[in-house]
Amino acid sequence: MVSKSKMKLIWILWFILWPVILWLSYNYYYVSMEGQFIDILLFAVFMGIVAWFPLTIKDNPIFFVNGISIAVFLTFGLFVEIILTQIAIFIVLAKTGVGKKDNYRYPLNMVMFSLVSVIGAGVFVQLGGSHQTISNQSEEQVWAIFGYAITIFIANQFFNKLIDKAFYKRKVKIFDEGLRWEFISSLLIIPVGFVLFVLYSEIGRAGIFYLGIPFVFISVILMLLYSYKEINRYLEKTGEIGHQLTNRMELSSVYNVFINEISELLPIDYAFIYIVDNNQLKLEQFYDLENNTEASFSSLKRNEAFSGKVWATGNSLLYKRTSDWATVNSRKIPSDIESVLSQPVEYGEDIIGVVTVESKQKKAFEKLHFQIMDILTNYLGVAVENAKNYELTKSQSERDGLTQLYNLRYMENLLEDYDDNLNQKDSSESFSLLLLDIDHFKKVNDMYGHEAGNEILCQIAECLTRLIGDRGVIARYGGEEFVVFLPNSGLTETTEIAETLRTSIADNPFIVHKHIINNTGPLKVSITSSIGISVYPNHCETVIELIRHADRAMYIGAKRKGRNRVAIYEDLKTS
Ligand code: GH3
Ligand code: MG
Ligand code: MG
Repeated sequence: MVSKSKMKLIWILWFILWPVILWLSYNYYYVSMEGQFIDILLFAVFMGIVAWFPLTIKDNPIFFVNGISIAVFLTFGLFVEIILTQIAIFIVLAKTGVGKKDNYRYPLNMVMFSLVSVIGAGVFVQLGGSHQTISNQSEEQVWAIFGYAITIFIANQFFNKLIDKAFYKRKVKIFDEGLRWEFISSLLIIPVGFVLFVLYSEIGRAGIFYLGIPFVFISVILMLLYSYKEINRYLEKTGEIGHQLTNRMELSSVYNVFINEISELLPIDYAFIYIVDNNQLKLEQFYDLENNTEASFSSLKRNEAFSGKVWATGNSLLYKRTSDWATVNSRKIPSDIESVLSQPVEYGEDIIGVVTVESKQKKAFEKLHFQIMDILTNYLGVAVENAKNYELTKSQSERDGLTQLYNLRYMENLLEDYDDNLNQKDSSESFSLLLLDIDHFKKVNDMYGHEAGNEILCQIAECLTRLIGDRGVIARYGGEEFVVFLPNSGLTETTEIAETLRTSIADNPFIVHKHIINNTGPLKVSITSSIGISVYPNHCETVIELIRHADRAMYIGAKRKGRNRVAIYEDLKTS
């Protein structure tokens, strides 16, 4: 973004330079234009029409008025050429959506183009050129015209790149796409401009029409050619992004790829990915080009802001300026935006989310951007569903179906991960594990039935979850055995935790509803548990061994000694 002081400087520069340039060119480069005002007006109209079809390559308008301006210069001299070119610039900038916020681009371009005109005229005069009719053409005159055209081309490129480097602080390549297009278009258009000059001086006003019309067509064709190249580029990139998206397994990385890629592909200042969740739109990812706004990870209701509207109606939105969406009122819309593009993310028949991108520029999004986003949001829909399915399958494969606790496989992987990381870090931390087995559970099943047994298992799972909290990871190890891994607890703390678990289970009877005892309602069932503890590195050499040692402690130290007790692995040796 361009700073306020720079903008001010541009306006001051323009205020001083522009009148001086005009005054000097009028007084010191005077070419008679008496009786030719209508013709000048006609030239101006054609230039205006040509300027209506500009190319904008990285904010620099390339437009094909050079051809007409060369004819204007040769016929009417510097002053008229400057004036008409300035009108054309004005049209180009207004057409490309330069508005109040970046209005400094008007004086910037006006000064730049008038300097280019002055330099061109200087070279023309130096080479002995004169503004006479075609009948007095000398070799010198041809060289002067040639020199003029080349100078204009080079000066134009020079100023453009100078502004890019010094003003916008962009990386500048001399032979870039802008230069290529300016060169190709100049090869086509400058000779036509010269012919226009010749024809006009030979047959007068009719010449403007004869050549003006093909001129307009050439500009339109060049513009189309460029836009086809652009479309091609966008499509290639879109395919790549789609591929990347559908390759991602995790949801968060799908969102990241999408936001990163579209922020590079499209001219956006803000981007939002909302996903439908609990009858709301939940903001999953947010992008702010200037990182000024904190990502307020909020939700939207139906019809709220742009995304809420798209969700409610299922229709995309494309706004080109603030006044287009003035009726959409929400404080969740950034205050400094002009253009908006918002599209539903669909999967099959369902809208599963909304993507909204916004720009501070007017007319930032064209039909092409709209179509590209349409393809990308389709990819996003598929990628999000894939990732959701993947995450669901993954979580199911990690969980026990009855209690929803982690299963043995998950616990073993977790312990292996800890083991691997240990070797790397050579850390001196200690880890504890406790293994809990319900006492005489077979009897409980026999007496109350298998379903009542299941109810108890679920209640034990809840009890463990509540008492352990985020201090550890709980897994159902086998039938009626549970493992609790406590990564940050030492022996003393683990023993205390185990005692709490044991007493809590023993002192609070469980209520079973689905028992097999006839004619009674819910029943209270008292149970007890035996717990074995082992600690790394006190009792074993690897983290994985914790389970085996805790199991041993449970059997030998707790079960064999009468159940309903806590046993520590190390005590086995001394007992
Ligand atoms: P102890 O551990 O005190 O030695 O006695 P126990 O009766 O608990 O013996 P053991 O651990 O050998 O038997 C476990 C019993 O747990 C066997 C089976 O009936 C029961 N069980 C295992 N899985 C389930 C389950 O998913 N649901 C129900 N209801 N019971 C299960
Ligand atoms: Mg058992
Ligand atoms: Mg048991």
